[in-house]
Amino acid sequence: MQSSDPDTLAFYARQAEAYSRRKRLPAEARLEGFLARLPDGGDILELGCGAGADSDVMRQRGYRIRPTDGSAEMAALASQHLGMPVATLLFHELDEIARFDGIWANACLLHVPRSGLPDVLQRIHRALRPGGVFFASYKEGAGEGQDGLGRYYNYPSRDDLHAFYAAFHWQAVDISAAKGSGYDDRPTDWLYVTAVKPA
Ligand code: SAM
Repeated sequence: MQSSDPDTLAFYARQAEAYSRRKRLPAEARLEGFLARLPDGGDILELGCGAGADSDVMRQRGYRIRPTDGSAEMAALASQHLGMPVATLLFHELDEIARFDGIWANACLLHVPRSGLPDVLQRIHRALRPGGVFFASYKEGAGEGQDGLGRYYNYPSRDDLHAFYAAFHWQAVDISAAKGSGYDDRPTDWLYVTAVKPA
């Protein structure tokens, strides 16, 4: 099992400054939909937070946030931006139990090698409280590979994602799709997955 991709993490370490300065399309609609399902002021873990823009929104909305990123360089930038500690946490290091009402993982679990994804999903499921909500987005495709910038992607289909998530007990798994882009400016088919842990 491979839990993370060293080349991808090295990319974000090198590019942290540039990545944090880029014009980022806001995830607002999806973020609002996610927050609407959580208790007011609830506990949210953000995985792969990058420069911390989404955690900033969640904090302003009154949630208790725990921003994290697997790149120490990116976590340091997020910490500067947010003015609070941001933990360096690789996805497969998550070991908390029933601690969060929501887990937000925008455009980051797409870097988990396919062989390591079941373990990461299991950790996320375990870290959620009953009734907790988990959001993640992926670049749709037909098999793992690297992009033009040398980053690893798991490139799942909808069926792949349903199969990965089906290994754990969710009350609901909703997958929606939209066309967009990313840091590489390439046309991208995005898949957005919201899963709810049984209450
Ligand atoms: N979520 C942010 C956003 O929407 O702008 C950042 C997305 S960026 C495409 C992916 C982030 O995932 C990077 O900040 C990177 O450092 C982090 N990352 C990649 N592999 C990781 C791993 N194995 N564990 C934790 N974070 C990881």
